[in-house]
Amino acid sequence: MKVPLLDLKAQYATIKDEISAAVAEVLESQICIGGPKVAELEQKIAAISDCKYAVGVSSGTDALLCSLMALKIGPGDEVITTPFTFFATVGSIVRTGATPVFVDIDPCTYNINPALIEAAFTPRTKAIVPVHLFGQMCDMDPIVKIANKHSLYIVEDAAQSITATYKGRRAGSIGTVGCFSFFPSKNLGGAGDGGMIVTNDESLHQRIALFRNHGAKPKYFHKYVGGNFRLDPIQAAVLLVKLPRLDEWSEARRRNAAYYNEAFQGTPIVTPHIRPGCVSIYNQYVIRTANRDALLAQLKANDIGCEVYYPVPMHEQECFANLGYNASDFPHSRAAAREVVAIPVYPELRADERERVVVAIKRLYS
Ligand SMILES: *Cc1c(COP(=O)(O)O)cnc(C)c1O
Repeated sequence: MKVPLLDLKAQYATIKDEISAAVAEVLESQICIGGPKVAELEQKIAAISDCKYAVGVSSGTDALLCSLMALKIGPGDEVITTPFTFFATVGSIVRTGATPVFVDIDPCTYNINPALIEAAFTPRTKAIVPVHLFGQMCDMDPIVKIANKHSLYIVEDAAQSITATYKGRRAGSIGTVGCFSFFPSKNLGGAGDGGMIVTNDESLHQRIALFRNHGAKPKYFHKYVGGNFRLDPIQAAVLLVKLPRLDEWSEARRRNAAYYNEAFQGTPIVTPHIRPGCVSIYNQYVIRTANRDALLAQLKANDIGCEVYYPVPMHEQECFANLGYNASDFPHSRAAAREVVAIPVYPELRADERERVVVAIKRLYS
């Protein structure tokens, strides 16, 4: 019996008829760009994120890129972020022409260590991009403090953390803008690519809406050079079916996580550390061990899906060699990349399946 890392078919089976009807509605309307589904999703994502405004975009990557462009970040600017993230965080910064400046992670949470940010600040620093990795938000209070002190923007990369909270505040609502992804493996995943930008700043919201659509207002009169960063209404229709179930699904992930936390006690497995004041949505349940090769082999031998997020930190990526970092510059990111692995935590994971995961892993240490 195989236990996959994620089983999208199991979730689809529970909402298939509603999805079909919602997609058919869009097709029947032949409103293929923008329209009421996109507007409704924007309004609802803004609401669940405690933000006033939301702009649907084509992906989480484009949410980051469009936000940075609308904030006029470009050549000569520096943007502080973490090297232990998905490529898109850093790729987006580089695509604006700005220079990413890395700050190492807190080895307990895998999120950027705020205590190291100040040392990375220079007069060229324009923004901080904290990444709320695996479903848990960064320690935002000290980040906001530094940003306020130096008048920096905060672009929250909340691709993995929609609805997660930090001291009761929602992911995306603390920074200047928050960026979400609807990539199918995220907690709220579409039937393809999609993303959303949220903000409480009205004029920035208007700029972002323009940048999403080639900077045009009115049509064919271009105020800025933006892009085609629009969200597809078919994706919006699918996401509107899934959205009412999001909390229930995240709760099921938390139950699975609690089961694992308990089960791995007394083993050498390091389980996720959720800081007091944070509620994680467990986009991934990431465990850690010094001897990862043996763990990966054991999972493979037992047909248990797993994935290393992420095997190569950004400062060690070939395409960023010109940034001039050494592999040893960010030791906690480097060590995490060598020692972590994500195991199945998706909401539909059955009790017998998660037990099988635990038994297989524990056998390594008996
Ligand atoms: C998924 C993800 C993105 C990019 O989202 P896409 O929708 O795949 O473009 C950006 N940052 C992080 C941390 C992610 O996990």
